[in-house]
Amino acid sequence: MKISRRTLLKISGVTVMASAVLPRVAFAARNSLRSMRTGIQPGNKTRLVIETALRPSYTLSYPEKQLVVDIANTAADSSVSAKLASGTLVSSVKQVQSGDRLRIVATLNKSITELPKSQIMLLEPNGDNDYRLVLDFSASSAEKIASAVTTGTGTTAKPQQKNIIIIDPGHGGKDPGCIGKNGTREKDIVLSVGRKLKAKLDEAGFKTYMTRTGDKYLKLAERAEFAENRKGDLFISLHANANPSRSVKGFSIYTLSEKASDEEAKKLAESENAADKIGVDGFTEFEKEIRAALSSLQQHAVAEMSEEYANGCARAFRSNKIEAQPGPGVRHAPFAVLRSTVPGALIELGHLSNNSEERLLKTSEHQDKLVAAIVRSIKNYNFDV
Ligand SMILES: [Zn+2]
Repeated sequence: MKISRRTLLKISGVTVMASAVLPRVAFAARNSLRSMRTGIQPGNKTRLVIETALRPSYTLSYPEKQLVVDIANTAADSSVSAKLASGTLVSSVKQVQSGDRLRIVATLNKSITELPKSQIMLLEPNGDNDYRLVLDFSASSAEKIASAVTTGTGTTAKPQQKNIIIIDPGHGGKDPGCIGKNGTREKDIVLSVGRKLKAKLDEAGFKTYMTRTGDKYLKLAERAEFAENRKGDLFISLHANANPSRSVKGFSIYTLSEKASDEEAKKLAESENAADKIGVDGFTEFEKEIRAALSSLQQHAVAEMSEEYANGCARAFRSNKIEAQPGPGVRHAPFAVLRSTVPGALIELGHLSNNSEERLLKTSEHQDKLVAAIVRSIKNYNFDV
């Protein structure tokens, strides 16, 4: 029952909601809306997912060409807009505050009949997901739905595909990356962590590819292209950091953005991108292709998914008691290696410029701890809708 990232990327439109329809909340809402999204399920079913902070108390109704979900004690939230995949029955989703109830109105291309229980799921929170009300439906006639329910074939699906993780140990070969005071090279640390990560992810049932498995130099464009060609669902670029101030330490996580979130992120992107100065050609062309292939909305979708992953990753590192570099949990900068249609993040595992962290990064024990946090973040990441 997997909706591929590719499907999700075929975003047809994001619901634009007039904030005027949302009156000020005059009651103490206990529950809050977290996200809404649609996707296609096997058997050409449309799936609508409504995520809320607490277990929703809800009712469903079916006006002509609509599916209406009323959730008790919940306030409308104009910052939450539905992510709509193409090819579903849902053409738009809007929120209407109706007393202390939040009314979610999904406008459909065709009318549907009342959903049988088998097509309504309420999922408990897991990882980074809160409560999810999952509604599956199709425009099929009432008889067809009824027979699917009675024969119990309504939920058969093709076998699950494994999610594909691209592990990118930074630098390599003639490019050592940054070097610690005691001679520890970034390219060696990240390769070691990358290998451990691959073993753990394979064990956990993911399909993994490493951009490099040995001490090999690769251009940044080649890494991004590798992720494209292997149809990765998630791209994890592993690095270690250096700071002019030797007291600075801790991990940091980055996603792609044209504008750096701060001066430090900007400098870091410049130094990581400088790896390509050793061999520059090829990149601009690849980048142009990628840009041409992606609408701005799709670029937005990739950015959003990357952001979601990166936030979860920062949480996983903190939960696993790995020291964070002071500052924002996730930063943004124009990292060349992240320019592709594969969502992902660049993880600076720690600072080789800091004496104690350089020592720590070399130990197998600490590397295992880092790997455990990354595996956790990947397991928590919502690959489906
Ligand atoms: Zn690096």
